[in-house]
Amino acid sequence: ITEGLGEAVAPFRAEQSPQTRPQNEPEPLPDDQPLKAVAASPGLALAPIFVLRQPTLTYPDTAVDSETQIMRLNRAFDAADSQLRTLIRQAEGGEAAPILSVHVEMLQDEDLYQAALEAINEGASAEAGWWQAIDTAAKGQEALADRLLAERAADLRDVGRRVLANLCGVEMPKPPEQPYVLVADDLGPSDVARLDTTRVRALVTARGGATSHSAILARALGLPAVVGAGDAVLKLVDGAELVVDGERGSLVPNPGDERRAQVARRLEQLAALQAEAHDKRHQPAITRDGHRVEVCANLGNTAHAPDAVARGAEGIGLLRTEFVFMAHPEAPDLATQIDEYRSAFDALNGLPLVARTLDVGGDKPLDYWPLPQEDNPFLGMRGIRLSLTRPEILETQIRALLTAAGDRPLRIMFPMVKDLEEFRAAKQIVQRVQAEVTCADVQIGVMIEVPSCALLAPTLAPEVDFFSIGTNDLTQYTLAIDRGHGQLSADSDALHPAVLRLIQMTVQAAHAHGRWVGVCGELASDPQAIPVLVGLEVDELSVTSRRVPLVKACIRDFTLDAARERARLALSKATAVEVRDALESF
Ligand code: PEP
Ligand code: MG
Repeated sequence: ITEGLGEAVAPFRAEQSPQTRPQNEPEPLPDDQPLKAVAASPGLALAPIFVLRQPTLTYPDTAVDSETQIMRLNRAFDAADSQLRTLIRQAEGGEAAPILSVHVEMLQDEDLYQAALEAINEGASAEAGWWQAIDTAAKGQEALADRLLAERAADLRDVGRRVLANLCGVEMPKPPEQPYVLVADDLGPSDVARLDTTRVRALVTARGGATSHSAILARALGLPAVVGAGDAVLKLVDGAELVVDGERGSLVPNPGDERRAQVARRLEQLAALQAEAHDKRHQPAITRDGHRVEVCANLGNTAHAPDAVARGAEGIGLLRTEFVFMAHPEAPDLATQIDEYRSAFDALNGLPLVARTLDVGGDKPLDYWPLPQEDNPFLGMRGIRLSLTRPEILETQIRALLTAAGDRPLRIMFPMVKDLEEFRAAKQIVQRVQAEVTCADVQIGVMIEVPSCALLAPTLAPEVDFFSIGTNDLTQYTLAIDRGHGQLSADSDALHPAVLRLIQMTVQAAHAHGRWVGVCGELASDPQAIPVLVGLEVDELSVTSRRVPLVKACIRDFTLDAARERARLALSKATAVEVRDALESF
């Protein structure tokens, strides 16, 4: 075959001359030119680059002394365990701590350890045996074609590398003492957790989507982040300057004088704005012409409720209760759930709490609630349709919420409802429990996440107390783009006119029946979207706690009339890019 089977053989690719770039080697990024990537966490930064280059770990594949190898592996395990526990202590109360705890559990995984021992006993070195075990387990998870499981595979490799580095006696790269922008291929959760936030000004990754662990952690830490920027960013030179705009998802290496001055001015303005927003965080968000919009916080962990209140949140606009379920090895019982929810109500001092009932399936599996393999889990057993198959679990959760609330304001809403029939079925369960548990101030609402619900909002409005628009899912289902898709997520913009029209329909139907509407998806914290949402007459915005003061400040900066005009402008456009361009030049 290599000789051509009787035909002349022309090489598929011309031989590379020494001057040509090796195959797959990215072009270096030009100076002072913006590069567009995926916006993962808002904010602006200008600082020198530090490219995190994973050290190459070299080791022999085989060894003859299996006992010594096992001893070495055990020592590397102990070291990894204590490193992780130190990191957990440092990250206490933060989003990273539970992820790192999962890493500790992975270290204790007996199957993983046994797989490594087997390989060592068959002649592998400790390093090779261990990595073989990790790689097999990670590939097994990746093969399940589920995004969350694939992320667990990344966690597995992360733990694996830690042990491997300990075995090779290699220290992880040391970042500079001065402020810097961290550039990396992709960041594992423990890399992000290890970040010294006093020095890291922004994060940039070559791979990853806006919903990767690192992006979620960057948002929780309040660090600007741009992800999925491509391999070329790894070729950036340490110490060179980089502008990171986490709002627009753009990067500019080595900005010219004019751009530097512009960015410096914007940074100053942002710092002043932030300081003012912080000072006024406990004041209501009222537009210049006196229109009030409530600003609440999204929470995954009830322990963060006091922090949300301290940042000026006027309530919890979305409690993602599935995290209470994910934190336990089996479904938490009534008493456990009452304790959880009660602690949030206690912290809220009479402010309302909007609890979204258990929302698993799709990208959020629960170990103890195995689901059948589905080709399209996002279009399958998910949200309320899953909960309605086990009404006793939903009933216990509702009982816990009503009991914990007592006479404090509780709003219950159901995720991924497609129409009135599902809403009625879920509402019936609440009413059944309400007959037994008195709770003085309860409202029952529905999340608008499926386009059918927005289209049919006039049929739902008479029977609900409120709507809360989950723009993350609403966008995914309207534009038919998986919200976690690494390649397409940049096109999955909730400021798309199709999504805005669905929001408009929802608000109009709600207000015609005197119901209120909130937006709890990520769009609510997008500075370009805030006036549009207010112009569409959304009554409440619920955002990550850290953004509460800034969202309030943004609302104080325009009039309702101007907001309405922006909404009209946005609705008249054909694409998300057109909407953003029009708003930018408004
Ligand atoms: C949403 O879909 O917009 C939402 C708020 O819910 P989650 O992101 O938890 O799916
Ligand atoms: Mg959702």
